[in-house]
Amino acid sequence: MEDIKHKIEELRKTLRYHSDRYYNDDAPEIEDYEYDMMMRQLKELEEKYPQYDTVDSPTKRVGGRADNSFESVEHTVRMESLQDAFSKEEIFDFDRRVHDVVNNVHYVVEPKIDGLSVSLEYVNGEFVRGSTRGDGNVGEDVSGNIRVIRNVPLKLNRAIPFIEVRGEVYMPKKSFERVVDRQLINGEKPFKNPRNAAAGSLRQKDSRVAAERGLDIFVFNIQQIEGVTLNSHKESLDFLKELGFNTVPYYERVDNIEDAFSKVEEIGERRGSLEFDIDGAVIKVDDFAQREQLGSTAKFPKWAVAFKYPPEEKQTRVVDIEITVGRTGKLTPTAVLEPVHLAGTTVSRATLHNQDFINEKGVNIGDVVTVRKAGDIIPEVLCVNEKHSSSNFVFPDVCPSCNEKVVREADEADIRCINPECPAQLLRNLIHFCSRDAMDIEGLGPSIIETFVNEGMINKVTDIYHLDKDEIARLDGFQQTSANNIVSSVEGSKNNDLGKLIFAFGIRHIGAKAAKLLSDEFGNMDNILNASREALLDIEGFGEIMADAVYDYFHTDSALEMINELKAVGVNMQSNTVIKDDRFSNMTFVLTGTLPTYKRSEAAKIIESFGGKTSSSVSKKTTYVLAGEAGGSKLDKAAQLGIPVIDENDFNEMIK
Ligand code: NAD
Repeated sequence: MEDIKHKIEELRKTLRYHSDRYYNDDAPEIEDYEYDMMMRQLKELEEKYPQYDTVDSPTKRVGGRADNSFESVEHTVRMESLQDAFSKEEIFDFDRRVHDVVNNVHYVVEPKIDGLSVSLEYVNGEFVRGSTRGDGNVGEDVSGNIRVIRNVPLKLNRAIPFIEVRGEVYMPKKSFERVVDRQLINGEKPFKNPRNAAAGSLRQKDSRVAAERGLDIFVFNIQQIEGVTLNSHKESLDFLKELGFNTVPYYERVDNIEDAFSKVEEIGERRGSLEFDIDGAVIKVDDFAQREQLGSTAKFPKWAVAFKYPPEEKQTRVVDIEITVGRTGKLTPTAVLEPVHLAGTTVSRATLHNQDFINEKGVNIGDVVTVRKAGDIIPEVLCVNEKHSSSNFVFPDVCPSCNEKVVREADEADIRCINPECPAQLLRNLIHFCSRDAMDIEGLGPSIIETFVNEGMINKVTDIYHLDKDEIARLDGFQQTSANNIVSSVEGSKNNDLGKLIFAFGIRHIGAKAAKLLSDEFGNMDNILNASREALLDIEGFGEIMADAVYDYFHTDSALEMINELKAVGVNMQSNTVIKDDRFSNMTFVLTGTLPTYKRSEAAKIIESFGGKTSSSVSKKTTYVLAGEAGGSKLDKAAQLGIPVIDENDFNEMIK
């Protein structure tokens, strides 16, 4: 019996770990199918051994939580999850349970969109708020990012007094491919699948980024409504359409469970040809009065069930292994496959990650492998089925682009080309340099940069500042106006904050936030160039890897030469953060919970304007925790470390 208890606890621990990666980091480490199977095993054990069942088990909880990055929203109508089924038999069991309570049942069948659940609220027909599901009771206010989603109506066709609807925000497959291409070009870790990409985009601080990601929405439920009475789900979906919502497509009302299951199979066959990912189909009791009688468990309604399609796997041959060079010089291997039809699309490439992955799977050119594509667009190699080679593929020891020797640094899985003049890196560096979080040079997108490089107009980053508008206008496909616009946005970028410039250099381990910290901490470029490793280590949030990366970068001749050239053409080398006075210098604040009057971003601005810093986690280096309502775990951490906690009144006193 002790064994069973132990097994149950282990399953709970593993499920919590993966739930955290999935919902809070948007970076799952295992397939949904594996997760669902583990959940199922836990559920069965809890049913068999009720003495070990607990109310806080993952089987009873809706995954996800609000992590304080946005204002929290309490859902008046709980946003529930769905019970799942993996076989026809389980669908018929569901129907039996329904018929134990009600008779004469009609069902509505819909595709189950693989995105993330949101609530949209409208007062007198106007959009007022959009929030995430969170743990079902409390979500996050992401109105800014919801507003910019295509197909979210800001004004409804009828000014009903109040309506709250529920929908699924998703990233269309096309947008996902574009976003991933961009991430690969920039040497960033790509999103694993459209669902995670949608979740990550919806929680962006900058709505412009969310807007650019091409998100969309399908609405599938009315949570609350005033002034209109509706009696069934089908009726409510038709009504949502009339109001101007993009409702879940292909929904259909059927008379019995057999027809419902046929419809589920039909949707499954269409799966691959849809513009968006689905991970199943949902069968719902149509009649609202019957739903009322059936009720809900702690986690899901008893009147609906989600049939989950299994991931598709197929065997194919590796015909080649290609190596590409990323912005940071990282060499990435891709298996070129004999094309196979998988989950509705033709798959001809799969990532092999790095040499360790290749060794672990034992892959080489000519081998027959199993590829899997679940919700993911980028297929993965699961295993080798037939080995036709005597060894595993081995990375070349020179860069395929510049032929210089490549290196594998200690404790790193990646192999890199470290030649700063490597042409493959130059293009990616340029694209990164001009991108929005970096120097934000509008008009200089990837394909135009590539043209300029091919035309010999840009050979290094600083050449951007010597582009000539007449020379651009003479190129095929360019006109004088577009040429003038490019040159004037190049000119405008000279006034950027130093933080953007540092980020634009693409120093390893230094993202936009770390670059801004460097800029604010040191105030100007010369101070950074003269900073010791120790001074860099003193920056809040900087560990040895980051401090070393910055120090090493600013002590290479090529970086110094570039900085001097940028100075000569007039690129700003100062931090633009205006410091009113420095009463908060050397102080770090952590903000948590909802403050009575300030938004957290406003409070952070005030802190910065007095020379202070903000951080997202409480540590020994934290000076104060500024807490509003529902402060959460950060308050526990502050108490543990003895960090003073202040409220908005205390804060107002301090900034008087
Ligand atoms: P769920 O995704 O299985 O089902 C509930 C959700 O379906 C609702 O929140 C709703 O937003 C959505 N939905 C989409 N279309 C719908 C429609 N037409 N009608 C009704 N609802 C619709 O359950 P969940 O609790 O949100 O999440 C569990 C899922 O997350 C599982 O698929 C699981 O595999 C995955 N997950 C994976 C990992 C991992 O590590 N891979 C970790 C945690 C969770």
